[in-house]
Amino acid sequence: MARTVLVLGGGIGGVVAARELRKGVGSSDRVILIDRDGQHLFPPSLLWVMEGTRKPDAIVKNLERLRRKGIEVIVGTVTGIDTDNRRVATDAGELDYDALVISLGAELAPDLMPGFAEAAVTPFDLAGAQATRDAIAGFDADKIVVMIASLPYKCPAAPYETAMFIDHALRKREVRGGVEIEFITPEPQPMPAAGPELGRIVEMALAARRITYRPGLNPESIDVDGKEVVLAGGERVGFDLLVGIPPHRPPAVIRESGLANEAGWIPVNHNTLTTPVPGVFAIGDVTAIMTPSGMPLPKAGVFAEGQAKTAAAGVAGFLSGEAKPTANFYGHGECFLETGGGVAGRATGNFYAEPKPRVKFNMPGRIWHWQKWVFEKWWMFRWAP
Ligand SMILES: Cc1cc2nc3c(=O)[nH]c(=O)nc-3n(C[C@H](O)[C@H](O)[C@H](O)COP(=O)(O)OP(=O)(O)OC[C@H]3O[C@@H](n4cnc5c(N)ncnc54)[C@H](O)[C@@H]3O)c2cc1C
Repeated sequence: MARTVLVLGGGIGGVVAARELRKGVGSSDRVILIDRDGQHLFPPSLLWVMEGTRKPDAIVKNLERLRRKGIEVIVGTVTGIDTDNRRVATDAGELDYDALVISLGAELAPDLMPGFAEAAVTPFDLAGAQATRDAIAGFDADKIVVMIASLPYKCPAAPYETAMFIDHALRKREVRGGVEIEFITPEPQPMPAAGPELGRIVEMALAARRITYRPGLNPESIDVDGKEVVLAGGERVGFDLLVGIPPHRPPAVIRESGLANEAGWIPVNHNTLTTPVPGVFAIGDVTAIMTPSGMPLPKAGVFAEGQAKTAAAGVAGFLSGEAKPTANFYGHGECFLETGGGVAGRATGNFYAEPKPRVKFNMPGRIWHWQKWVFEKWWMFRWAP
């Protein structure tokens, strides 16, 4: 009998899960991917859009193309997940499922911080990356603040790369001398999940570029008219241009699904990506995973990709009657750290290592930038053909 597997979300985790499922389940089984935008975006290249070296349409593909690979695609918003009756509601109708993979990501929620939407630009979505590019290109005042509004946010490296891209762009225009760049964040150090050594390297990279780094600060609101970030405790940080990473929140449909923890994210087994409900897996940014060393696993595409492969194998096992999933995700991750001007470093490691994550850093050079360039091309060809 043909079974139906639903994949919710056509981002990084969703497309990988759907493609792997197509290979892993029977040819008569249906694999249906549901996404509200009908587009697959490759977010790591948003920073190149911001830099002006990448056209927006080069990093977006229409999900309909997955039909050629035997995957049914529904463009619609998921509005309900009923695990008791194994049914998903969308604004395009209801669908029953035999197994489910949830990869709905984390939502950007600028509305959670008063003043953010009016006062800040963000490179974290496609329109925002272009607006940030234009704001930097036209900047002719004194001070830029790069701000992480709150935790958690996706891609631990991206805000730091953003600051270094801005520095590089201003140097290229030969206007860096008169401009102050300040970086404020609630984190205790850059990329805490990767350990103190990498944090120190990033801090040194910021200092070498005269970017003032101020960790441990909690922005509460933006005074739009006064052009100031208001911090917990009352301190005000003035800016002429505010480049912000907005608050993130779990999708509302997850908060109401019965699968979420108090914060609204889905806790899963960190190895198998299973939820307490048999046949329901969750992957990527929508999950809350505590690593064996007691740190939250960062929200990053590299993890969503690895988890998608594991969940797809888990679904195939579930449908064939396997009592317990045998496929495991072991916490391997790697990421590039772009420093501007076609140069990048690379961090690789095991985030599930005990007593703490084991992360190795390759110092910045052109090679890692080119490796990311090749990776982007490969990704758009391999997963979103
Ligand atoms: C600027 C930037 C740079 C980054 N760089 C890197 C990097 O270098 N390396 C790295 O590993 N990670 C990077 N990331 C993080 C990475 O993009 C995310 O961690 C990754 O996309 C998570 O995958 P996901 O499948 O969980 O969610 P997403 O890729 O966000 O996909 C979620 C999908 O669900 C859809 N959706 C949401 N709600 C609904 C709904 N109710 N109904 C239907 N569809 C819905 C959305 O349209 C979206 O397509 C970066 C992120 C940003 C913003």
